[in-house]
Formats: sequence, structure tokens, C-alpha cells
Amino acid sequence: MANTMKAAVFEKPGTIRVKQVPVPEINDDQVLIRVKYTGICGTDWSIYNGWYSADKLPMIAGHEFSGTVEKIGKNAKGLKAGDKVTADINMACGTCFYCMKGNTLLCNEFTQLGIHTDGTYAEYVKAPWKQVHHLPEGLSFEAGAFIEPVSCVIHAAKAMDAKLGSSFVVIGDGLGVLHARMAVLRACAPVIVVGNNKKRLGLAKQMGADYTINVDEVEDPVAEVFKLTSGRGADYAIEAVGKTSTYEQAFKMLRRGGTLSAFGITAEQDVMNVRPFEFVLGEKKVTGSCAGVGDDWTDAMVLISQGRICPEPLFSMKVPLEDLEWALHELRENPTLFKVFVSPDITEKEML
Ligand SMILES: [Zn+2]
Ligand SMILES: [Zn+2]
Repeated sequence: MANTMKAAVFEKPGTIRVKQVPVPEINDDQVLIRVKYTGICGTDWSIYNGWYSADKLPMIAGHEFSGTVEKIGKNAKGLKAGDKVTADINMACGTCFYCMKGNTLLCNEFTQLGIHTDGTYAEYVKAPWKQVHHLPEGLSFEAGAFIEPVSCVIHAAKAMDAKLGSSFVVIGDGLGVLHARMAVLRACAPVIVVGNNKKRLGLAKQMGADYTINVDEVEDPVAEVFKLTSGRGADYAIEAVGKTSTYEQAFKMLRRGGTLSAFGITAEQDVMNVRPFEFVLGEKKVTGSCAGVGDDWTDAMVLISQGRICPEPLFSMKVPLEDLEWALHELRENPTLFKVFVSPDITEKEML
């Protein structure tokens, strides 16, 4: 095989160059994977704009991916060339206080493939063999590239642990659509999704949401949620937008004793206004969740392959690696797009 490959390098904020770079070299504990698809994520937009990981540039971004095993390190077990795979992107040291507790996402040395180290907007990527997962039989490469976001949603759902019969409000119609699906699977009711994109709110309904609230069409979304929850507010609320204003709104939508799940990533320095009173006399709670890790990945694969989560209606378009930068902008401007995949193997755009 050649020792150079095509890659989309995020050189500095606002600049992506598709060029030839060395193929990653693997050590005994790593696997080289030939990338098939990478899903474009909001995090890529943040990296592109220099809002996130700016100190890591130049870097090849891309972390929601599928592909086939190309080469395996000496210590790798259970993998062979040609296997259809994806990989858990979360890297931890394994020895710090948090790793010892099993909270690898909180590791002192925590890094993520494609976010802090070179990722999958390229022909090849390397990953630790222990984090490589075989795609279940019959799962498409597109669905394989969607396991990562589903694992994040599952991680948040486990942290929140919503009880059967609970009312559940999702703020955000991006991954919020999947949070709504998870709430339905946990037998929450009613499940309410708040957003401003008609197409995506329609997808939320398709995923089983009972009600959608378009913020452009109502005076006060908080009042709407109260109307739908017997005037009490929701048992659970999840913020999946990443803005202080929607966090404050989510907190107001909770009933006394309710739980807020923090999912949307705000800017690091953002601060929200919450009255401590609400925690004390209102006994409200907050759970955080930063990614999907470990068995969140296997659970995501089970839910997709068994048809509990059918992501296909969310897949909008495939583009060649050369069109990544265009697609990043198009996703901002075209409200009909949801998930866009990038591939080093295709030369033409394709709508899905
Ligand atoms: Zn992502
Ligand atoms: Zn650690």
C-alpha cells in the first residue's frame, strides 16, 4: 500500500486543505482502519471556526466513522483485514484517579480521536485495537458511522435514568430528535421536543415524540410545556442546543424535584443564571454527560441493529472528502439537511 494518503487537514481556523499526508503508523496495540464514511458533527464546525481544539491545529478532524480493518498491530486480537468496524473515540490513561473509578471520560489525560488527535476525514485512521468494534451483521456503513452520536445519547440517557411514565422535554431538534427516541424507548410520556426547524421537528414526531413546540410559533415555550404537563413542568428536561438561554429555559421547564440533563456544549466561559433556591426548596437536579464510552457503544449497536432506533430518515447526503468545507457551510444554511456523510471513496455528491 502507498505510504501517503488523501486527508482533509484543518490547518487553521477557517481553512481546510485536502492534501497528501503520511499514512498513520501503527504500534503493536493499534489498528489501521480504511475509512468509509464520516458523519459531519457540530463539533467539526466548532473546530473549523477555532472555537474548540484550536491549540491542536493543524489536525485531521472527523470522529463519527465506519470503515474496514486494513492492518493490525501484533497485540490486537479478534480482528482481521477487511472486517467492517468503527471505534470508540475516547482515549484515557487507565491509571489516574478517575480511570481507577471507571470514569474514563473524566480522565486527567482524556483525548478524543478526531477532536484532539488526527481523525477520520482521511483515507486511513489509526485507533487502539481494544476500542475497535465490529459492526453488527447487516448494518450499513452509513449506520456504522452513526453509532458514535447514538452512544452519546445513550450515555446521557443512562446518567438521567428517566423513569417509566415520566414527562420528558427535549430542547433542541438536532440530536434532540434521538433523545426523544430514547425517552420513548424508556416509556416516558408525554415526550415533548422544542425546536425551530420544521423538518427536524417532523423527524422528532417520526421518532415517536408526542408533541413538538416550534419556538418561532409560540409566545412562551416554557408556558407551552407547563400546559402539556398538567401545569407542573416536566419530570425531565434535556438541553441539546448548547446555549445559556436554552439552559435557563430548560431549568424553568422542570417541575419541583425534576432533573435537567446537560448535553449541549456551550462556550467554556458561558455562565447561566439559576437560583440556588430551586435546588434547595425545589430539589431540582442536574446530570452531565460528555460522550458515549465503553458499553454505550455496544448498546448503541444493539439498538440500531435490532431496529429500536432507525436512523435512516436522518441521513441526508454523502459528499466527497474534497467537498467537506462546502458541506460544513451548507449544513448551516440548508435547513433540510440533517446528517451528512463524507467519504474519501466518492467523487460526486449524492442525496439520500
Ligand atoms: Zn460527534
Ligand atoms: Zn486516566
